Amino acid sequence: MPISGSEIVKMLPGKKPCKDCGFPTCFAFAMKLATGGATVDKCPYLSPEVKAKLEDLLAPAIKLVTIGSGDNKVQVGNEEVIYRHEKTYVHPPGIAILISDKESEARFEEKIKKIKELQFPWVGLTLKADLLALQFESGDKNKFLALVKKASSANLGMILISQDLDALFSARDLCADKRPLLYPITKENIDQAITKIKAKPTPIGVQGASIEELIPLTTKLKEAGVDEAVLDPGSKNLMEAVRDQTFIRRAALKQGFRPLGYPTITFPCFIAKDGLKESLAASVSIIKFAGIIVLSDFDQYSLLPLLVERLNIYTDPRFPMAVEEKYYEIGEPDENSPVLITSNWALTYFIVSSAIEATKVPSFLCVKDTEGLGVLTGWAAGKFSGDSVGAMVKKSGIENKVKNKKIVLPGRVARIKGELEDALPGWEVVVGPREAAGIGSFLPEYVKSLRK
Ligand code: SF4
Repeated sequence: MPISGSEIVKMLPGKKPCKDCGFPTCFAFAMKLATGGATVDKCPYLSPEVKAKLEDLLAPAIKLVTIGSGDNKVQVGNEEVIYRHEKTYVHPPGIAILISDKESEARFEEKIKKIKELQFPWVGLTLKADLLALQFESGDKNKFLALVKKASSANLGMILISQDLDALFSARDLCADKRPLLYPITKENIDQAITKIKAKPTPIGVQGASIEELIPLTTKLKEAGVDEAVLDPGSKNLMEAVRDQTFIRRAALKQGFRPLGYPTITFPCFIAKDGLKESLAASVSIIKFAGIIVLSDFDQYSLLPLLVERLNIYTDPRFPMAVEEKYYEIGEPDENSPVLITSNWALTYFIVSSAIEATKVPSFLCVKDTEGLGVLTGWAAGKFSGDSVGAMVKKSGIENKVKNKKIVLPGRVARIKGELEDALPGWEVVVGPREAAGIGSFLPEYVKSLRK
């Protein structure tokens, strides 16, 4: 649970405002610490004990865990709320595809191909799965190590799964620089594992037969200075998974219970009996707080709905989804191509640009920032007026890209035509269809008129 500024100030040295922290008083510094606007190390007069205590109290209720490195790293945890509508969820769960060392070379290649190629452009974003989960099942350590070596070149975050601790850490040593997640760390292997983890710090997956069993394990890890972990409470079916995930989230955020203040990992691949149930378990995991979700396999039909669900759940509900204000090229437009304008609500942009794309008429689409409102709402809010649209068009530089100074205005806001023409001297404003659905019949005919 967050600590308040007035509680923090009682722990500060209270020297007559020395200001060495950059703040006028200890109290001002304490208030900044409480809101995350400063770090403890800015005050040079804290004893090591107080500093450590403050760092612990100010740490996020759910630890941030990073798996992988570089562009393909996946960060999970650091969540602040139980319910999305309270504020927002922050780090979307990583979705992993499981590859066992018992699977054939062809299956390995197929799965690597899938995770690399199944990427979906979606309202200006690219939706994709994130991680490879490599499992030691064959009993042949060399085979597992060969799999890990091969998978390392795929440049994706990895989860290494092995009950054999020696194989697990030998695999880790092959790719420690890529920060793989090591799983499972259990009550049976934790003592041996701690020394090896500390030698080359990498994130770990802690597995217990129940939530209760996780508590002494994370406590022991924390005491040893190892706390980049995800939790697996050993749920055996979907009902247990929902119960356990909810319990862990509530304990971390409502009770501030540190031993459970970690993101979680779920295994629809192990608890579901068929593909459909596995997708259902994954879908529930996305909603019910999982940090990492491991799937046995996927195709475009099972993966895309999960990725869209994840996007929706982890989109900040306080802000509408919006795209950047600028002109976009659809197809390969040239100086004779049409210019259209719309607002920057992501859904509007997506629908309009898709409708233009479907006509196969290369076009320029100017997108005016309406703070994520649709065209008509944006006009009603004064954010899609003739003056402001005109200013945007001038600023965008589209003028230098086309010979025909004509711009197509959404029919819904035909009323700003005159105002826009005043704001854009030399341009002709053409009133286009009221709905994006009308672009299909409008644009091909319109482009012919431009080329006459
Ligand atoms: Fe107070 Fe420390 Fe800041 Fe000095 S440096 S004002 S003692 S918080």
